[in-house]
Amino acid sequence: MARSPNGSAAVPAEVDVAVVGAGFSGLYLLYKLRKLGFSAVAFDEAGDVGGTWYWNRYPGARCDIPTTDYAYSFDPQLEQEWTWTEKYATQPEILAYLGHVADRYDLRRDVWFDTRITAAEWDESRRQWLLRTNHDDEVRCRYYVMASGCLSLPKTPDIEGAGRYCGEVYLTGMWPHGPVDFSGKKVAVVGTGSSGIQCIPEIARQAAQLTVFQRTANFSVPAHNGAPPAERLARLADDRDSYREDARWSRGGMPAELTEVSGVTASDQVRRERFENAWRTGELFAILGVFSDQGINPIANEFVAEMIREKIRANVNDPDTADALCPMDHPFGTKRPCLDSGYFETFNLPHVRLVDLRQKPIVTITEAGIELADESFEFDAIVFATGFDAMTGPLVSVNITGANGVTLKDKWAHGPTTYLGLMTSGFPNLFMITGPQSPSVLSNMLVSIEQHVDWVADCLGRLRAESLDRIEPTPLAEAGWVQHNQDCAEITLYPRANSWYMGANVPGKPRVFLPYIGGVDAYRQACQDVAEQDLMGFRLDGPAGARCNDGVIRRIQPDVAIVLDLIASLGLPLMETMTAADARAYSDATAATMPPGPVVGEITDAVLPGPAGDLGYRLYRPPSAGPHPIIAYFHGGGWVLGSQFADEPFCRDLCVRTGAVVVSVDYRHAPEDRYPSAVDDAFAAVQWIAANAAALGGIPGQLAVAGWSAGGNLAAVTCQLARDAGGPEITSQLLLTPVTDGDRARPSYIENGEGFVLTADLMGWFWDHYADEADRAHPTAAPLRGTLAGLPPAVVVTAEFDPLRDEGDAYADALAAAGVPVRHIRARGHIHTSLTMVDAVISGAPVRAEMAEALSAIRLAPVRA
Ligand code: NAP
Repeated sequence: MARSPNGSAAVPAEVDVAVVGAGFSGLYLLYKLRKLGFSAVAFDEAGDVGGTWYWNRYPGARCDIPTTDYAYSFDPQLEQEWTWTEKYATQPEILAYLGHVADRYDLRRDVWFDTRITAAEWDESRRQWLLRTNHDDEVRCRYYVMASGCLSLPKTPDIEGAGRYCGEVYLTGMWPHGPVDFSGKKVAVVGTGSSGIQCIPEIARQAAQLTVFQRTANFSVPAHNGAPPAERLARLADDRDSYREDARWSRGGMPAELTEVSGVTASDQVRRERFENAWRTGELFAILGVFSDQGINPIANEFVAEMIREKIRANVNDPDTADALCPMDHPFGTKRPCLDSGYFETFNLPHVRLVDLRQKPIVTITEAGIELADESFEFDAIVFATGFDAMTGPLVSVNITGANGVTLKDKWAHGPTTYLGLMTSGFPNLFMITGPQSPSVLSNMLVSIEQHVDWVADCLGRLRAESLDRIEPTPLAEAGWVQHNQDCAEITLYPRANSWYMGANVPGKPRVFLPYIGGVDAYRQACQDVAEQDLMGFRLDGPAGARCNDGVIRRIQPDVAIVLDLIASLGLPLMETMTAADARAYSDATAATMPPGPVVGEITDAVLPGPAGDLGYRLYRPPSAGPHPIIAYFHGGGWVLGSQFADEPFCRDLCVRTGAVVVSVDYRHAPEDRYPSAVDDAFAAVQWIAANAAALGGIPGQLAVAGWSAGGNLAAVTCQLARDAGGPEITSQLLLTPVTDGDRARPSYIENGEGFVLTADLMGWFWDHYADEADRAHPTAAPLRGTLAGLPPAVVVTAEFDPLRDEGDAYADALAAAGVPVRHIRARGHIHTSLTMVDAVISGAPVRAEMAEALSAIRLAPVRA
């Protein structure tokens, strides 16, 4: 029987490319592949094109991205000839659009409908995939593309007794094609995600009684639906190309201005104004972008969350129902927020009731309805709006066997691992459109789909042009991308929610953050960079021979990369071209823009006697009752910049994390006071602090020294001097990205000499200000050249992208070789300055936690007791 509108009874035996899915992705792929001259077919289980919009026909189903942006952009003519009637189009209108696209480009002739690919196996000898359909057809293809959607495998209701119910059962994700009439009926809806929230007001319009079973209250924003947004239409009319290009290089796939307003530091009035403005737009990205820090800072997030709860309470008459509808268990945005049309107001209707499953869980579904511990309900119909096995489900539901005989399901048993969300190693020539670890569901899907399809099509064209026919990501590149994804997610609040983004909605599914959260713009750049670097991280093979430019495309921590981008965008003069006075002013001004760090118990300022006059110090006391161990701390700044106040956020953080009194001491700076003035001051300060420990609230005999950069140099030198002088007793040393030598021929000076804030030239400038060439090899300037035996246990922290990395590593190694206990922490993806950027570079927090833990573990036991 023919299942293709082209009248063919059987699928072709062999094609260049086989595509699974005939939704937005599959249709554009067919169009693109055909244009490139590849033979291609698509398969879809549905009876027609549409993908998710074919199946999700429940009442109220609409897109949640404005139609100005929720449409293809690849053909300006297509854009011109289609006019959307609403800001958020209904499912029938979107389906009609996809039908129009299929007709316009004559795409249906290459789609086999009502056909599911059940299995796929890589045949290495022929370098082909062998696909099997549910009709026992087979098709061989060089390339196999899963364009099967992220939310296309509905979750079967995982509720006790679900199969027993004898009334009408509906799944929002597989809604019948015929009419469904709830008039006069008692209806239950289970689930209050986007699908539930969209269909509940519509079902309430028909049903005689509606009972909503809610497990987790959800944040929802009124869509303010109506005509397509005039402002966006005007921008499109004015310059369509630049609008689309802005979307492609935006964070979420829609042109939007990124704010720099922090929710933490904004005034109440600014917070309220920004929130209300976003609320009025009825756009998801607006409400997700009220503050720059709402996705990463719980305090900023809570401001938005609470303002939404206020709206819910204002709209729902019954206070108990309002309370139950207020989401309290996850930060705003960490579960996909919903757009609604009268959702909360629906609960004011007399025939609508909310059942809070957190208070009264479902015991079982019965033949007649739903049973709670203390109440039974009978229904004519139950609607399950219980969601999807998202992102990985549609991929692993096909029995895909790769080059090593391993199935995709087995490979991903602990979570998906991909390279760019496009491919996965062991599965050559298999591409995914909007796969896990790509922006996909966190973005405007249309922009992400077009980007993926374009990339894949370009890639296939390139392979053909270069006489290659096999492509597969390397394990190294894949591991790097997986790590980068994890790094991106971990600096956000997203992993705190039990969301489908985390796989938490499907029992037994591994908890891994599934989409790439670094942004559409950053992602597009990564894909582009890979392509430009000879498809870096892909092993290529074919008649032209084999080659591979192996590597990891993103190694810098994502928030460090943002800082670097920001600095680059400011176009500031290089510090090494400034006078010392200007460099100090610049450095102080930069420090003033940083978050202050955590609250400590007390901060006091005083002076202590130094060899050439008083030295200022600032003391940070923990909130707990003393006495406490003491850390004498020396600030960074190349012996030229800074003061006892300069590293305040880091000192506060160190104080809170270690529970120690931190005494940040100033020292004389170069060029006014050159080497060894700073050394003399530092050692004198440590002697004084040791002698006055009790008066400072410290525990005598429990003194650590610490320092960052040039301060780390002074801390290391001080330990050597104290050992040689027979005191004071120093129990441990924390050296954060320290200067230990000054040999600028080390590889890290070359690899990281430019572009990572502390440059090789700037370090040269610091040295020139600080010490004469002849003095630089002296152990009190270059502690690496000193005798290291008998020094206090050390915590040495080095950063991957720091010119000083190798001398820090060398110091840690040399200490260990000299028998000194060392904990060497290598801060992956960090630069010289990022670890002290408390609350600004979130990825530094785990490193600081580790260093504090390491310091605490060794600090209390004097070595030479
Ligand atoms: P969902 O967001 O996963 O929501 C499923 C709902 O069912 C949740 O409230 C969930 O509660 C509940 N649930 C699941 N299993 C349950 C159980 N055993 N007992 C009780 N309650 C249970 O799924 P969705 O609403 O279909 O939406 C999925 C995604 O599809 C959306 O986030 C969105 O990305 C997309 N979507 C978009 C639109 C649109 O506006 N364009 C419309 C629909 C869907 P818990 O939260 O406690 O798990």
